[in-house]
Amino acid sequence: MDNKFDAIVVGTGISGGWAAKELTEKGLKTLVLERGRMITHVDDYHTANMDPWDFEGGDTITRDAYKRQPKQSRTGYVNRESSRHLFVDDLKHPYNDDKNKFNWIRGYHLGGRSLTWGRHTYRLSEFDFEANLKDGIGVDWPIRYKDIAPWYDYVEEYIGVQGRPEGLPQFPDGKFLKPFDLNVLENHMRNSIAKNFNDGRILSNARTAHITEGTKPGLGRVTCQYRNRCMRGCPYGAYFSSNSSTLPAAEATGNMTLMPNSIVHEIIYDEENKKAKGVRVIDAENNQSYEYYAKVIFLCSSTVPTTSILMQSKSNRFPNGMGNDSGELGHNIMDHHFQVGASGTFDGFKNKTTYGRKPAGFFIPRFRNIGGSTNRKDFIRGYGYQGGANRGFMSIADSKEELVSYGPRFKENIVKQR
Ligand SMILES: Cc1cc2nc3c(=O)[nH]c(=O)nc-3n(C[C@H](O)[C@H](O)[C@H](O)COP(=O)(O)OP(=O)(O)OC[C@H]3O[C@@H](n4cnc5c(N)ncnc54)[C@H](O)[C@@H]3O)c2cc1C
Ligand code: SF4
Repeated sequence: MDNKFDAIVVGTGISGGWAAKELTEKGLKTLVLERGRMITHVDDYHTANMDPWDFEGGDTITRDAYKRQPKQSRTGYVNRESSRHLFVDDLKHPYNDDKNKFNWIRGYHLGGRSLTWGRHTYRLSEFDFEANLKDGIGVDWPIRYKDIAPWYDYVEEYIGVQGRPEGLPQFPDGKFLKPFDLNVLENHMRNSIAKNFNDGRILSNARTAHITEGTKPGLGRVTCQYRNRCMRGCPYGAYFSSNSSTLPAAEATGNMTLMPNSIVHEIIYDEENKKAKGVRVIDAENNQSYEYYAKVIFLCSSTVPTTSILMQSKSNRFPNGMGNDSGELGHNIMDHHFQVGASGTFDGFKNKTTYGRKPAGFFIPRFRNIGGSTNRKDFIRGYGYQGGANRGFMSIADSKEELVSYGPRFKENIVKQR
């Protein structure tokens, strides 16, 4: 195989898939390197149509599986028996976070986390772009919302994002498909928040990358079937993933050479021309090393691997890693705050039932530090909440003492609720 291309893309997750599509559609012969195994859209979603009773012990992670994925299991909602093959084996991919616990949830396969992400899709707002300048912290963003808004339009129209327009500057609207309905309790919360708060706080529909009407480009991408099994890969291509959307578009151009099982470990620096000129790769299957060359190299292997590839790319010009003149490469990593919030039970709507399994809940957009009475003296900036209301095991119990999930009392409670 020729080892010279117009462009090289490293990684096939959300950013790598997009880079592959854009470069190949512009006519560049592009090598796309992915460290993990091949996952073919539909054919390799082998758990997509399985029910809980098809798994030993239901669709909860078994003790044996947990031993191999203790870190992937930390959040409690990521890996199940139906999806654990899309997350790494922590024993094979260890990292040291003894001092500061860091949940590094990842999957090494074609499509990366585009197969398992939560699909929530929000735009940054002008508040975010202006924040550094206004607060006098860090470096001012070189662009503003108006510069990036057309690109949000471009992506949303291509992938399909459902949502409810709200007309709020801190929660910019996009090119939305019709929203999934809020369920009866979520709607009740929306109305109740509107009635009880006058500080700009609202409850809106979660905005997610699901097709809710019509079709989108890619491999047979059609409207969502309300199955809520997205994390296993969607046979309908109804949520956005690289595998269903951007990679097939790149493939269709005839300009993509896709190589799974190819671990990039270094960028080759041309000391003479003072430019990156290629990548060094280890074949994950036979351990052989290869070099590939191109004028354009996109590193899309996600935050930590991209940083580590740069740190490993040492040369006379970059003795501490490529692009690391400041010594800051690999520092200042920040996780997103997660699982901080509130929950409650609601005793009502017992005469209502739900049809289908909606794969998205609600979102309460930022309502702090957006002007006037919302401005706080004790902290800057703001936060939003993701959430959802559902009838779960908790709600079939009469009291805390009765949180039964099996046996005759469980059966009685279910019958009583119908
Ligand atoms: C459970 C979960 C839920 C999430 N929910 C949301 C959400 O609702 N909304 C949202 O906006 N974001 C969400 N995210 C985050 C989102 O998935 C990531 O921000 C996004 O996938 C990052 O895209 P990426 O292309 O940078 O990396 P990834 O999608 O992680 O892709 C990186 C790819 O690079 C490959 N790779 C890594 N190292 C190498 C190497 N050395 N050589 C070759 N290939 C390599 C990997 O195998 C992988 O395929 C979620 C993440 C997780 C884990
Ligand atoms: S809920 Fe919709 S997007 Fe998710 S797996 Fe089912 S059909 Fe696909």
